[in-house]
Amino acid sequence: MRAVVTGAAGFIGSHLCAYLLACGDEVVGVDAFTDYYEPAVKERNLAPMMSSGAFSLQRVDLLTADLGVLLAGADVVYHLAGQPGVRPSWGAEFRTYAALNVLATQAVLEAARGRRLRKLVYASSSSVYGDAASYPTAETLRPQPASPYGVTKLAAEHLCELYRSGFGVPTVSLRLFTVYGPRQRPEMAFARLVAAAASGGSFPLYGDGEQSRDFTYVTDVVTAMRDAACSDFTGVANIGGGCRTTMREVISVVEELVGPVEIVRLPAQRGDVRHTGADITVAAGAFGYRPRTRLAEGLAAMVAGHGSPSEVASVGQ
Ligand code: NAD
Repeated sequence: MRAVVTGAAGFIGSHLCAYLLACGDEVVGVDAFTDYYEPAVKERNLAPMMSSGAFSLQRVDLLTADLGVLLAGADVVYHLAGQPGVRPSWGAEFRTYAALNVLATQAVLEAARGRRLRKLVYASSSSVYGDAASYPTAETLRPQPASPYGVTKLAAEHLCELYRSGFGVPTVSLRLFTVYGPRQRPEMAFARLVAAAASGGSFPLYGDGEQSRDFTYVTDVVTAMRDAACSDFTGVANIGGGCRTTMREVISVVEELVGPVEIVRLPAQRGDVRHTGADITVAAGAFGYRPRTRLAEGLAAMVAGHGSPSEVASVGQ
């Protein structure tokens, strides 16, 4: 299959490119190397792929690129490019979120119209649910984002649904629940926790530590993306790790692996929800999704990969 991966140099995108290449796909990676975090980190993320004859990279911004040319000949488009992060999405920064998450997605969908695509897989987010009324949360629950970031992810998801019903673009929106693994974005909790444990630094814990997340290992995520692309499924599906864990429990696992971590308590942040938990029945039925990586295994892979950012996650495959 010939795949176009937007956001290829990012955390999940770089794992997806590596996985698709390992499956024998031809991959065109697209990335603008935005400065949400250090672009040099993104360069390192992609370094192992650059020598592959089946991989090529387009350093372009989706908002200005000729997407017709980029998508020419593609069987599958994996659209991961976007501005991540819940906390910075308030205030003036919202303009960036609206542009990179909503306008860029509309541009990709417009370019996909009328093409013979097998699938367009969009990286949506559990943040569309906000503080959900029930757990595990099913796709049928009314989304109520608790952050501007979640609003933009939901808007982009709605655009995918519109282009599917209106123009027959075969879209799948996968609502990813907190993804972790080697090369996790440097501002995310696990990356900071592992860095603090390894360096003897402190870890800022927002809230009381009893907030829980359905943490999902990155290899399970990228496997699900390709499985969804190869299936007949279109629509919306949750991709979660299979169980909810509190931040306190995560800290204990990392301390067992690396040693004690100094915790600095900070107030809970606006937009951070109390719990997330995925009902994965839809993904299981539609394309056989089953999370394979237990949290302790995945965290051990992160600890092992710390300091060697080009490492490709192998746990759980
Ligand atoms: P990331 O920031 O590491 O990767 C995103 C990449 O997109 C970056 O390399 C960035 O340079 C690129 N990009 C942004 N705007 C672009 C544009 N206009 N043109 C070209 N490239 C552009 O983030 P990530 O954690 O790998 O997340 C990937 C996707 O998955 C995002 O859409 C995010 O919203 C979604 N998601 C992530 C998580 C998670 O836990 N990491 C959870 C749910 C959803």
